[in-house]
Amino acid sequence: TRNFFVGGNWKMNGSKATIDTITDGLNATKVPEGVQVVCGAPDVYLTYAQSKITNASVQVAAQNCYKEAKGAFTGETSADFLKDLGVNWVILGHSERRHVFGESDELIGEKCKKALATGLNIIPCIGEQLEEREAGKTEEVVFNQMKFIKDNVDDWSKVVIAYEPVWAIGTGKVATPEQAQDIHEKLRAWLKAEVSQEVADSVRILYGGSVNGKNCKELAAKPDIDGFLVGGASLKPEFSDIIRARE
Ligand code: 13P
Repeated sequence: TRNFFVGGNWKMNGSKATIDTITDGLNATKVPEGVQVVCGAPDVYLTYAQSKITNASVQVAAQNCYKEAKGAFTGETSADFLKDLGVNWVILGHSERRHVFGESDELIGEKCKKALATGLNIIPCIGEQLEEREAGKTEEVVFNQMKFIKDNVDDWSKVVIAYEPVWAIGTGKVATPEQAQDIHEKLRAWLKAEVSQEVADSVRILYGGSVNGKNCKELAAKPDIDGFLVGGASLKPEFSDIIRARE
């Protein structure tokens, strides 16, 4: 059985004051037994967020990191820095990294490899754009993205996949539970064929894209949806409802 996993992705939002409010809410949330919660804070606030979280079920994640340990890469954060700060999770290949910052499948693969080698847990993100879905290319797109991740993973126990259809991110247009389940099931079948039955059975596949306190329960009831990666709603009190979506 796969433990339910709720990731928050604060993106480039927050201040010390808003992080105080968010972490007060997290600390007051009774996280159900076995549920894992990870919040992606901006790099500059990672240590601040860590210092504010007292709930043992909640961990902090970075939203990105670079593929090299150190050196002349102005403005970048390495997996080694995260490790040094006691940050054990990193989101990689988010659609905003892919589409706003032009990150390639190759680079995302290299980042996955480096983060894992450094001892971090990774949340690689995949997902199709609207035109790709409309052209019937969803499976082709996500399987290709998965290939670059798979080629760089040896220990799958440190990987949680996030399926985030780009058309559902920040749009209020959530995938229907059936649409999400369909792709999650296909991703699990792909993992079985390309990696192993054991990995297909054990890897968590999260859904992301306009998840909120209202739509989370129906999505969470689907057999291949093992949790969420939540953007906007992770900044709000309703994030607690999402954490308890399976209750
Ligand atoms: P929203 O929940 O705001 O749609 O964002 C989803 C997302 O990108 C999480 O990584």
